[in-house]
Amino acid sequence: MTAVIALVGRPNVGKSTFFNRLTRTREALVADLPGLTRDRHYGTAQFEGRQYLVVDTGGFEPEEREGLVAAMAAQTRLAITEADAICFLVDAKEGLSTQDAEIAQELRRGGKPIYLVVNKMDAKGAVSELPEFYRLGLGTPYTISAAHGHGVEPLLEAIFSDLPTPEDDIADATRKGPRIAMLGRPNVGKSTLVNTMLGEKRVLVFDEPGTTRDSIRIPYERQGKPYVMIDTAGMRRRARVGEGLEKLSVLKTLSALREADVVLLVLDARLGIAEQDAHLVGVAVELGRPIVVVVNKWDGMNPEERKAVKQELERRLDFIRYAPVYTISALHGTGVGDLYKSIDQLWIDSRRHFSTAELNRALADVIETHQPPMVGGRRIKLRYCHQGGRTPSPWCFMGTN
Ligand code: GDP
Ligand code: GDP
Repeated sequence: MTAVIALVGRPNVGKSTFFNRLTRTREALVADLPGLTRDRHYGTAQFEGRQYLVVDTGGFEPEEREGLVAAMAAQTRLAITEADAICFLVDAKEGLSTQDAEIAQELRRGGKPIYLVVNKMDAKGAVSELPEFYRLGLGTPYTISAAHGHGVEPLLEAIFSDLPTPEDDIADATRKGPRIAMLGRPNVGKSTLVNTMLGEKRVLVFDEPGTTRDSIRIPYERQGKPYVMIDTAGMRRRARVGEGLEKLSVLKTLSALREADVVLLVLDARLGIAEQDAHLVGVAVELGRPIVVVVNKWDGMNPEERKAVKQELERRLDFIRYAPVYTISALHGTGVGDLYKSIDQLWIDSRRHFSTAELNRALADVIETHQPPMVGGRRIKLRYCHQGGRTPSPWCFMGTN
């Protein structure tokens, strides 16, 4: 499972600088995913081959604020709830402030692992202000310079050695059936689809509450095979009782995506693809989740309208050409059963193991058509390639020696 690390601290301690340092290497790769790079509050990063998500909570806070804890926006609290680890940043140049103490108190209540990070330690070994930070009662501070990068490695090492290991992730991935998450704007028909998919199926445990998150996992069986529906924000119930819409929370969505093995991107055929859809797809791609595009409300559309929708889809979703596309009516159930063809296939594909030999052959093919760039007058040589993880991470590691 992708770990979430939240960066917390008062303004100007260097959260966004640290965020950029952690996620920087990714920018080049995500630049062509629409919408993704614009939102700089969430980013993906890697440490020793393990992918994680960074949330800069500073981005959520209002500019003008008085009483920081009071202003600790709901989004920040949500980020803290969602996080697996919290980096609490303080400023070595400014020293300890009362705000720091307030935030520390607030964080301790959350019960999440907290790493006290003293930033702006630009000169290595400059420790004069350090003792006062012990007063926060958060243990030994990690000293870093977000601007220059010192100390970041040891901090990440500490965080990751406390998080579940990749072996746990693999064990997690040997679960019996795929976990399915719905992604889409309000009103596209997610709740209706969840209900249709679960409708006549044997729901194994109904509404079992999620442990830490707002999503609910509903295990069920279809044709003797197990599945788990990740029902964000009670979609199943909502459609039944017809409650109003709630705002799409990015973290709720990310949390569901993190857990999902297959993501159903639900679109409303009558509304086409909005910026927000493209953004959500970008995030799912970035997290390496397989996507099935589900064009809903296909009922009651005439042939011309259908043709126009298909053309628009081709154009707007060009960057996920590989994703299967289905046109369905969640309301009438038309086409819904077909979704399982892709769900089952993607579940198998995403867990495949590729041998280094297979990957090396693929790498050789790629290099033949696309030479690596010259660096310092020399051409980079990529010699081998091996699989970094399953369920899937869009990156492999390439060795240059
Ligand atoms: P945020 O409000 O917590 O997101 O803080 P920023 O990342 O915007 O940083 C606030 C200021 O501190 C900026 O002027 C940064 O350039 C500066 N800063 C951040 N990290 C460091 C660091 O490691 N050393 C120094 N000297 N300045 C830093
Ligand atoms: P959600 O906000 O994405 O969960 O969307 P809902 O499932 O609540 O659906 C929003 C509205 O679209 C409701 O009025 C549904 O009855 C309607 N709807 C959902 N699926 C279909 C469909 O396949 N065809 C038609 N015509 N309407 C649908």
